[in-house]
Amino acid sequence: MLKNLFRITAAAAAITLLSACSVTVSSYNGEASADDASDFVELSEAVPDAILEIRYYSTYNFVGDRIDGYEEPCALLTKEAAEALKGASESAKELGYRLKIYDAYRPQTAVNDFIDWAENDDTEMKEYFYPELDKSVLFEQGYIADKSGHSRGSTVDLTLFDMDTGKEADMGGTFDYFGELSHPDYTGELTDEQIQNRNTLRDIMLKNGFKPLDTEWWHFTLENEPYPDTYFDFPVSEDSVAK
Ligand SMILES: [Zn+2]
Repeated sequence: MLKNLFRITAAAAAITLLSACSVTVSSYNGEASADDASDFVELSEAVPDAILEIRYYSTYNFVGDRIDGYEEPCALLTKEAAEALKGASESAKELGYRLKIYDAYRPQTAVNDFIDWAENDDTEMKEYFYPELDKSVLFEQGYIADKSGHSRGSTVDLTLFDMDTGKEADMGGTFDYFGELSHPDYTGELTDEQIQNRNTLRDIMLKNGFKPLDTEWWHFTLENEPYPDTYFDFPVSEDSVAK
């Protein structure tokens, strides 16, 4: 009887612990609570040379609307990723470029907004971002997913801004284009200059501690990201990181 009581108590304690964990993840081994922005910094502070064009704060993105969770047109990253990005910014400047940032930390709330959009009938931005694809395949082909590495806070989407021409370097395709054209190793209709520009961005990022993604030329994740298992969910705003 006593033994059974102990089992029941232990089970109850385990359930209590589990439900507590679903709200607040314990902070050890690089894990943090999803609403804990204390290790994050704002990019215009950490990398002042970067140009910000936060597409999910604007309506010029594949949804065609401001995305939930983007409260200000700023970019947040973990301190570690921001420091590495500062190195990348210096490397870019040596070559006559600046980094132009499209997205960095992305709250889970925003990813959920993408999922809701993927399930509705809206195709307002199809001609710009997914002309070759039927919207219904975006999920199964991996263009939209339940979770994004961006929510872990050490991933950035960016391109090169050429200081000689005063324009973005020609990458032969736009950020967030859903198709093979976005694969970094796509050579189908790209000019030598476009291939070279993609390689330059990749070289700059890899040299500074980031790893690439084989489906998006603009997407890089810090090799040793500090929170590999945490999907954060505080808003993109300066207030989130204000101390
Ligand atoms: Zn990305």
